[in-house]
Amino acid sequence: MVWRSVIGGVMAAGAMALASCVSTPPSDIVVITDARIIDGLGGAPMDDGVILIQDDRILAVGGADEISVPADAEIIDVDGKTVMPGLVDVHVHFDILGHANYGHWFGTYEDRMRSDIMPSAAQAMLRAGVTSVRDLGADVDNIFWLRDEIEAGRLPGPRTFIAGPFLRKTPTSFVSTDYVDTWVIESPEVGREKVRRLIDMGVDVIKTQDEALSKAELAAIYDEAHKGGLRVASHIYAADAVETALEAGLGPYDTIEHIGVNQDQNYNQNVVSLIVENRVAMAPTIIALEGVKMIINDPALLEDEAWRRDIPAEDLYADIQRSYRETDLSQHAIFIRSEADRMGRFSKLKHLYDNGAIFAISSDSGTRGNPHHNAMWREMVLTEQVTGMPRMGVIVAATAVNAKILGAEDEIGTLEPGKYADIIIIDGDPLEDLAAMSQIVAVYKGGALVE
Ligand SMILES: [Zn+2]
Repeated sequence: MVWRSVIGGVMAAGAMALASCVSTPPSDIVVITDARIIDGLGGAPMDDGVILIQDDRILAVGGADEISVPADAEIIDVDGKTVMPGLVDVHVHFDILGHANYGHWFGTYEDRMRSDIMPSAAQAMLRAGVTSVRDLGADVDNIFWLRDEIEAGRLPGPRTFIAGPFLRKTPTSFVSTDYVDTWVIESPEVGREKVRRLIDMGVDVIKTQDEALSKAELAAIYDEAHKGGLRVASHIYAADAVETALEAGLGPYDTIEHIGVNQDQNYNQNVVSLIVENRVAMAPTIIALEGVKMIINDPALLEDEAWRRDIPAEDLYADIQRSYRETDLSQHAIFIRSEADRMGRFSKLKHLYDNGAIFAISSDSGTRGNPHHNAMWREMVLTEQVTGMPRMGVIVAATAVNAKILGAEDEIGTLEPGKYADIIIIDGDPLEDLAAMSQIVAVYKGGALVE
């Protein structure tokens, strides 16, 4: 990286100061200079900006003329590049890496989650500038293990918030009985009891999935989650099921995952009013429905070096490639569904945005045709295209709004003093073209450079 050469000179000067027995200790401050800062608060970007970092926190942010830089600080001159808060993705899956066939994936690789798959996903997201994530459904033992490993610094990965299992009416069909990614809800009482158990175990969010849960069961789950201080992520497609979930009590910054999916053109006025008045956040996961089509249109995506690099186990990556090459993708369930409901999905998202709904940016990364290394920036691009949201609005949604959904807005999501120094540096201007978000040249998590 070009600016590294600047550091050498400064470090040498610092070493000389120590050698001559200067009594004040080195400041331990790292300074990013010559930055075009987009701070996540939504205001105009700042040119010639400076960020002071001490340990894992941001100490100060401002213009070069207003921030005084300690003489012995380590300088990182970014040469006018764009500097932003690390991205926050409120819908990811660590246990899948974009393979086309879930039945094959879980049937073949269930015992390689900890050795290969989850660490690969964690590394890929970090390298893509995603420094905080919310996993919305995985084997309970594995996802707690992963969160603990990352928190303890034993595995590189984003700050990880977890749901644990999907709460459903029926188990998922493609995993074994040893891989517990679903807890079945038989009644409202069972819903309350299982939410309390998850809260005791230490999950960060409650995830409901499938539309067979009754309004009474959803209401019990939501109420118990809210009483425990947790938000809810609700996975629902059909318009009447969305209405049921809203009436069951989805509240501020709870999310509706996959909002917009189904063929109706718009939601009725009751749905739109409940969403806007109750400040429920929309989590569209647009890319999760478009990834397979993108591979059909451009098979070279299967040769993406970033995808390969993030999956060191070569047999896994080869199997992912094979899963697309040896399948008639025009018959793939996701492709068929996506083609059938694209108009309806997009018109509903635009309608919700135009009516003032809060939008998250959520990629559902790891799903079919939707690998972790590019899911988030592609979701940002699609959000602008589909809703007409201004690019700055998309950036704020992917940082500050998502941090609020995680309940972590005091710690992450913007470049402000006191928050974690989760910072990405981009070679390009995402306010000109959000695809510049794919040109990340450096990622810092808690002030530490990601390798
Ligand atoms: Zn998902």
